[in-house]
Amino acid sequence: MSSPSTGTAPTALVQDVAFVGQLMESLSVPVFVLDTDARVMIWNRACEQLTGVPAPEVLGTGDHWRSFYEVQRPTLADMVLKGRRDEPRPARPRGLTADADALSPLALSIESWCDMPRAGRRRYLAADASPIFNAQGRLSAVVETLRDLTDEKMAQIALEQLATRDGLTGLANRRCFDDTLHAEWNRALRQMQPLSLLMVDVDNFKAYNDAHGHLGGDECLKRVARAVASEMRANDLVARYGGEEFAVILPNQSLKGAAIVAERIRCRVEQLQLPCRFAAGHVTVSIGAATAIAGPDNHASQLVAIADAALYRAKHLGRNRISLPMTEAA
Ligand code: GH3
Ligand code: MG
Ligand code: MG
Repeated sequence: MSSPSTGTAPTALVQDVAFVGQLMESLSVPVFVLDTDARVMIWNRACEQLTGVPAPEVLGTGDHWRSFYEVQRPTLADMVLKGRRDEPRPARPRGLTADADALSPLALSIESWCDMPRAGRRRYLAADASPIFNAQGRLSAVVETLRDLTDEKMAQIALEQLATRDGLTGLANRRCFDDTLHAEWNRALRQMQPLSLLMVDVDNFKAYNDAHGHLGGDECLKRVARAVASEMRANDLVARYGGEEFAVILPNQSLKGAAIVAERIRCRVEQLQLPCRFAAGHVTVSIGAATAIAGPDNHASQLVAIADAALYRAKHLGRNRISLPMTEAA
């Protein structure tokens, strides 16, 4: 850790500087301070511990960003500095307690993932940066304090996963499917784009369970889920709709395009060649497809009903096949 240069300052000032140095060292909050040339004046012990970078390495340099990022980008303190460097501030009477409200328009706060190259592990940091003004109201430094919120962020991500993911397959769960379908329906309505849906159901899965046991059935569902997901584009959503049934939302996809995706999924599952003890062949799926141009007079649930009816037809026609809605099928 360092403190500002003392030079030939009077004893009181030397004591002030020494006190500030001790204060910084004793803080458990990581803090660094930049001067108006964006060079590091203070880099306290907690900051060393967080970043893995010892103070002597950064003091007097503009290399502080290297402690946080792989590639050069400004820290929050740099942003405050850049925005405020040329703006004189009205001097605050000496001894007056800093008022958070008065400072807030000049301060910046952010939460983000940082690479932390030297610490060797990405951390989710909350940063607050505030300008420090001298008696003449001129900017003299910027202080940035950091809080490591990685554990809290990871817990939040885990909770979100629990709320939206299916525990067995890792796919989106039914609730996430319902929300996404609703959102995509509204988007399709606004943009007057088609919206397609596939319902994918594992054939004869009850018999598979009976022959391979429930755990064997679970393993099979995981493999099929991975195979279905592998055929998705970035904006598609594949969800576990329930039991051995998966639903695939294909935004901005025509029925013809949806049929091509459905056939690719069917082939992909077949190619897994997951053996069935109860039959000579392998695990297969049947798929029903539906497409709608969203309109104010129809509803997303109709898309599900049409895809369901097509799936039922695929089962009826012998399974291991795709089926399009009766009206659309040529
Ligand atoms: P169809 O070809 O007509 O779809 O026949 P099916 O046997 O696949 O359909 P059915 O609805 O009769 O049976 C589905 C089976 O899926 C019954 C249920 O025990 C099983 N199942 C549902 N969820 C799970 C699960 O999470 N794990 C396992 N192992 N089996 C499940
Ligand atoms: Mg089934
Ligand atoms: Mg089923």
